[in-house]
Amino acid sequence: MTSGIVTAAYIGATILFILALGGLSNQETARRGNLYGIIGMALALLVAMSAAVTANFTLLLVALAVGGAVGLVLARRVQMTQMPELVAILHSLVGLAAVLVGFANFMDPNIHHQGVELTIHHIETYLGILIGAVTFSGSVIAFGKLSGKIGGKPMLLPARHWLNLSLLIAAIVVGALFVEESAEGAGMTPLLIMTGIALLFGIHMVMAIGGADMPVVVSMLNSYSGWAASATGFMLSNDLLIVTGALVGSSGAILSYIMCRAMNRKFLAVIAGGFGTSGGSVAGGEGEQGEVVAIEPLEVAELLADAKEVMIIPGYGMAVAQAQHMVYEITKTLKDKGVNVRFGIHPVAGRMPGHMNVLLAEAKVPYDIVFEMDEINDDFPEVDVSVVIGANDIVNPSAQEEPDSPIAGMPVLEVWKGNITIVLKRSMATGYAGVQNPLFFKDNTRMLFGDAHDTLSAVHQAL
Ligand code: NDP
Repeated sequence: MTSGIVTAAYIGATILFILALGGLSNQETARRGNLYGIIGMALALLVAMSAAVTANFTLLLVALAVGGAVGLVLARRVQMTQMPELVAILHSLVGLAAVLVGFANFMDPNIHHQGVELTIHHIETYLGILIGAVTFSGSVIAFGKLSGKIGGKPMLLPARHWLNLSLLIAAIVVGALFVEESAEGAGMTPLLIMTGIALLFGIHMVMAIGGADMPVVVSMLNSYSGWAASATGFMLSNDLLIVTGALVGSSGAILSYIMCRAMNRKFLAVIAGGFGTSGGSVAGGEGEQGEVVAIEPLEVAELLADAKEVMIIPGYGMAVAQAQHMVYEITKTLKDKGVNVRFGIHPVAGRMPGHMNVLLAEAKVPYDIVFEMDEINDDFPEVDVSVVIGANDIVNPSAQEEPDSPIAGMPVLEVWKGNITIVLKRSMATGYAGVQNPLFFKDNTRMLFGDAHDTLSAVHQAL
């Protein structure tokens, strides 16, 4: 394949990736965006294979078949609730690939650079491995936390900021040593030492982040995986990888910023860790809150049928119960009765960005009745019945009322300002951040206990 065709194909793939990102920014165009991404990636893969690979073609095809098969099986098996874990573990593979390619590139005897070019190449290699290793170990820990294999509480070492700072300084000093040694054909030892430091940094960084701040970490690691790919692109002189990595890196960074804003956190403060600690007050835990009032599905159906304005607030529990289809059945029934039903979506509801929107779209809930938190938060005083389906942290008033709460400062949906709130959950267990929720004990709150799918089915039947 001539270099002209390769360049044209790479530009084509880049445009498709940009169109994919543009499409994904809106629910109505998200499917098309995904399709552009798939075509772009297929094109990139085909061209990279035919242009860059000159030997061992069979080995490559076998690896592709094995990797593709594993990916296919995983994608088919994964439950919607396990998606964030899958994303985290896939990020770790990007990081690992950057580390392995970096080492392979460093050891490649066929690469001949001179003078400044050699130094730049070594710096690219160093950075690629550094970011890759942080992404790898950080993503593995994030996977552990999201899947519940590692506790969600932040691990706060006494001098953790100093530890981070000394790891950073060590990485810079070892980097200088590496550039010096590698100019003379050595340098493997500093490279290995740096990899160890970066792995440790990734583990420590994510271990120190707890409670409700994990969404930021997931999108931040997404961003890191992009920069790792971009650095690998520089190392391999592959323009497409540079651009694609930069697209992923910058969109991940923007997403992190949006998540931070949604949670009223400062990005650097989240990275420094320590939010979501159990050290804060567990807003009135253990019996200080008074009694909760339980309600039965029949009464819920009556309240809903008599209402004019209903607001549905879905959360992680709706994903667990797979109750989105039943929610939509109830919505249709209420609409037929003349009730105005709207959905209020918190930016960090569920376990990944856009989690609730994906579920509601799957159930074919029309987009025009689905609203972002900022659009509807002032409307609650006019709402007759709010139905909180498996949500907890995102409707927790202690975020506003308890300065010591681990989720203090996080904007929440102010359901308690409505006339009556019905909360669907199985028990009095806490949500992801591990904090008790005073909403459940308010006079105008009723608890409908049970799996959300079962209780909603009963409500639907009664309606
Ligand atoms: P929460 O995790 O706060 O609460 C979910 C609630 O759902 C639980 O209290 C649980 O109570 C209930 N539940 C679980 N299963 C069922 C079921 N089958 N039927 C009925 N209820 C059920 O979820 P939210 O959506 O309110 O908040 C999201 C949290 O996750 C935030 O803290 C956010 O920061 C964090 N997070 C978000 C990410 C993102 O990108 N969106 C990524 C990582 C974390 P019970 O067990 O009693 O049923």
